[in-house]
Amino acid sequence: MNRFAQKLAEHSISLRRGRSEILQVNVGKLCNLTCVHCHVNAGPKRKEIMSRETIDRIIDWLGKTDIAIVDLTGGAPEMIPDFRYFIERVKELQPARHVIDRCNLTILLERGYEDLGKFLATNNVEIIASMPCYSPENVNAQRGEGVFEGSIAVLQLLNLLGYGIDPDLPLHLIYNPVGAFLPPSQAELEADYKRELKKHFGIVFNNLYTLTNLPIGRFASYLRCDNKLDEYMELLIQAFNLATINGLMCRNTISVGWRGEVYDCDFNQQLDMQCCCNGGSKPLFLWDIIPDSLEDREIMTGDHCFGCTAGAGSTCGGAIV
Ligand code: SF4
Ligand code: SF4
Repeated sequence: MNRFAQKLAEHSISLRRGRSEILQVNVGKLCNLTCVHCHVNAGPKRKEIMSRETIDRIIDWLGKTDIAIVDLTGGAPEMIPDFRYFIERVKELQPARHVIDRCNLTILLERGYEDLGKFLATNNVEIIASMPCYSPENVNAQRGEGVFEGSIAVLQLLNLLGYGIDPDLPLHLIYNPVGAFLPPSQAELEADYKRELKKHFGIVFNNLYTLTNLPIGRFASYLRCDNKLDEYMELLIQAFNLATINGLMCRNTISVGWRGEVYDCDFNQQLDMQCCCNGGSKPLFLWDIIPDSLEDREIMTGDHCFGCTAGAGSTCGGAIV
């Protein structure tokens, strides 16, 4: 039994899925950046990307469900050749579905992506964008030289398109710590971001989501190199907060990999913890399941889960409590 499962057992809890409300699709590991904190180990040389055939199978499956939200992530999800095709097909479904693009911002400055912001706006795609700080030093240290300046230029462009202003075009930012510590208060940091980005760059946005870095992927390697992995793990364990359990994203999200594999969350995905058929060892693909069959299913956990329950908690939508 891993330490997280032990902790839950101490509180007589078994972590189980609720109703599936979000389909989070990780379309691949290709990215134009190689951030220090990346749990996906994404980068420009990665070859794993979702094929059109897999997209078609996902859309066929989705069309038979009432899951209302499709959350596209990666890598830089925009870099797969069929990114626009995916969104257009989701948007054809009835009843209508809401689409989220988890965007690193700088991709919109690359050649071939100049009109992508307009495409996203036309299709009412919500943007959740990484922006680990409102000052250049921290952003460039974590994400690479020049990323802060590029991100600011793209945020200004998105504002011009109506993002962060038009209620149909939500623009949220994501903060994650630039080192081995927990995020500060989400509400206070959001106020700081809003003030600083408006004052210095005229940028507006809707919400700031604070995320905790989980000790996996490139962030784990970074901690290991610095001899801080055990210390960080201990920090997460000590900060365990029982009040976060009901809000964990694995309870209402189905995570799908670039080949259609099913996981309880994107972190489990990066750790190859693929869900299996009930009571068996056959790995599950999206087209093998009906959403209701996942309800009440036990969630696969590991020590990394302490990253989601530390302090105020952490989900794809920010702090939990
Ligand atoms: S954190 Fe995001 S933007 Fe950075 S390398 Fe990973 S997937 Fe790309
Ligand atoms: S890493 Fe977080 S979201 Fe994933 S299974 Fe563990 S607690 Fe749930």
